[in-house]
Amino acid sequence: MPFLQRTVHCVTHHVRVTLHGLSIAVVAWLGFSGTAFGQAAIPEWCRPLPRPEYKSLERVPIGDAWFEVYKVAPGVFAIYEPHQSEETISYLVLGEKRALLFDTGMGISDLRKVTNELTRLPIVVLNSHTHDDHVGDNWQFETVYGMDTDFTRQNARGSRQDAQAEVAPDQICGNLPKGFDPKSYATRPWKITSYVHDGDRIDLGGRSLEVLATPGHTPDAISLLDRANGLLFTGDTYYPATIWLYRPETDFAAYDASLRRLAALAPQVKIVLGAHNIPVASPSVLPRLVTAFEAVRAGKVRPTQAAPGEVIYSVDGFSFRMRAPEGRK
Ligand SMILES: [Zn+2]
Repeated sequence: MPFLQRTVHCVTHHVRVTLHGLSIAVVAWLGFSGTAFGQAAIPEWCRPLPRPEYKSLERVPIGDAWFEVYKVAPGVFAIYEPHQSEETISYLVLGEKRALLFDTGMGISDLRKVTNELTRLPIVVLNSHTHDDHVGDNWQFETVYGMDTDFTRQNARGSRQDAQAEVAPDQICGNLPKGFDPKSYATRPWKITSYVHDGDRIDLGGRSLEVLATPGHTPDAISLLDRANGLLFTGDTYYPATIWLYRPETDFAAYDASLRRLAALAPQVKIVLGAHNIPVASPSVLPRLVTAFEAVRAGKVRPTQAAPGEVIYSVDGFSFRMRAPEGRK
């Protein structure tokens, strides 16, 4: 199903906004700004929430209002953070002997408490990639696997700048958790307990997950395939909103190859589970995504301005946020 959503980048901060039925040309420069509308104004990205797609999912009650948890497949929980503009989704996948936590979110509230409510199994953490919005609570877990890349090792040292941008007033929808101090918010360092590589299988007991290196968005981007159950977790390589490909660590050729690799798996997959906004998508998006990105790379899609130095390419219901072509500011 085509996702006719358009994403607009806020002028001053990183905002993963999805707006319905509005032209980018009209809204691109209407990004919410705290100074223009006052601190109390609701950010644009927050207005279409809750997303209608969640109505058909099975919600699992938990004690922490920062997160929403949905059971999206047998033994698979999507842990969604709707109060921050990234709308990050982490996944807890249960086996019989242990569980794998694919990403640990923003680190704004306490994900460890949530996983404690959902399972008593020992938990292995593995990240779809190590951007700040996916590793926030890594530090809370004893077993954290990592891809064997310098990018991963660098990010495991922690950082502050990206985290600070995430909690600007226009990035938050509703209330921050009690006791959370935005001023001291940073991505805390974590310890990588062992390295994983492309093709590794992680045995959870009665469930096996295959690590697929899908670099492009970052050098350490991976997808996870639960072949027996037809589940493909795609991280930021695919999710149903504007895909961010503008950072210096992004590699278009690698991304293109990764999309093709995932598209080749589509016939074996039942659900595609991405890391932002909405947790379930049809595998039919994967081959279409290859074609859409090919059209962008071939110069067949006209970009619209998103923010200074950045543009958005929209084609066939997909959109990609990228750096502006040379000569365009
Ligand atoms: Zn990312």
